[in-house]
Amino acid sequence: MRKNGLTAPLNALQVLTWFLFPFFIIGYTVLSFLPQISVPSSLPTTGPVWDAQNYILGSLVYLFSLLGIYCGGQACSIDPIDNHLQTHLLTNPNGRSKGGPGKTFCWVCQVHVSSSSKHCRFCEKCVHEFDHHCQWLNTCVGGKNYRPFFHCVCAVFAFTSLELVATAVLLARFYVDGEDGGVRVRIVELYGGDTGATVFAGFALAFAAALLVTVGMIAQLFFFHVNLQRRGITTYQYVVEDAKRCQEEGRKKKEREKTRKEEEKRRKEMGQRQVCVVCWVGGERGGGTGNGGERVDNGGAERYNSDASNSYENGVELTEMIVRDDDMKEAEI
Ligand SMILES: [Zn+2]
Ligand SMILES: [Zn+2]
Repeated sequence: MRKNGLTAPLNALQVLTWFLFPFFIIGYTVLSFLPQISVPSSLPTTGPVWDAQNYILGSLVYLFSLLGIYCGGQACSIDPIDNHLQTHLLTNPNGRSKGGPGKTFCWVCQVHVSSSSKHCRFCEKCVHEFDHHCQWLNTCVGGKNYRPFFHCVCAVFAFTSLELVATAVLLARFYVDGEDGGVRVRIVELYGGDTGATVFAGFALAFAAALLVTVGMIAQLFFFHVNLQRRGITTYQYVVEDAKRCQEEGRKKKEREKTRKEEEKRRKEMGQRQVCVVCWVGGERGGGTGNGGERVDNGGAERYNSDASNSYENGVELTEMIVRDDDMKEAEI
């Protein structure tokens, strides 16, 4: 049974998260913050408004990134275990648990737990007000740690978005600014000449691309949880509802397909019967309804109608020939 996100075994995404936090903070400092606040020796002064903007932006980035680390750490370190299971393990680990209203029995834990709790196969325990198992933090998110988890998502969304804006502005100024003491002059002096500036621009572009992907993913997660909170449901309940909706849609689709096939079969049978009737009329009785009487909008049936018409005509021709023969015999008699 895993206690929290720091309990072994660790997973790859969790380690990647630990790497990404410092990567984005150090990357922003080196590629965006320092170049924009550095004062080149060749310039007597820098624009006070421009520097103030960078200091405010930088302060917000560092504030939100530290907030993200703090909240993420809290979400990881809290044990989201079900309260009944926790009490059972502390007071009566070998005994039998008592059921009651609002409780359900977990066959894996062999303990009565809250109805809102669900058993997590990664953590191997029942989780209080289960939401989901977060692979990035490698811990279950439930009633006890949902708040720090969501605050962590908000903080990461905020600081990565600000970093993306700052890096995009820096790159725009780097390529647009002339030699009048703008960003390019600062970068050339800070990173060792034009070659250093070109390498810097390449890293800054790669950093902006990584930020763009991260902001896209975290924005999706942020708006998903905002929507869940608006609806007052958990991720688990959303997944269950979505699975039921998909199942219902699949059932309706199958029904529609079945009805369509039955209708097609019925129309085909009716079309074939119609052809037979026409063929029969044309072949045996001649005249009558003829071919023009009833047409079906079935290609095959229409073809048979056409054949029936020929038979009819042939039939008439044959009848006339027989009559002529009879006339001939009568004449001979
Ligand atoms: Zn359980
Ligand atoms: Zn879990």
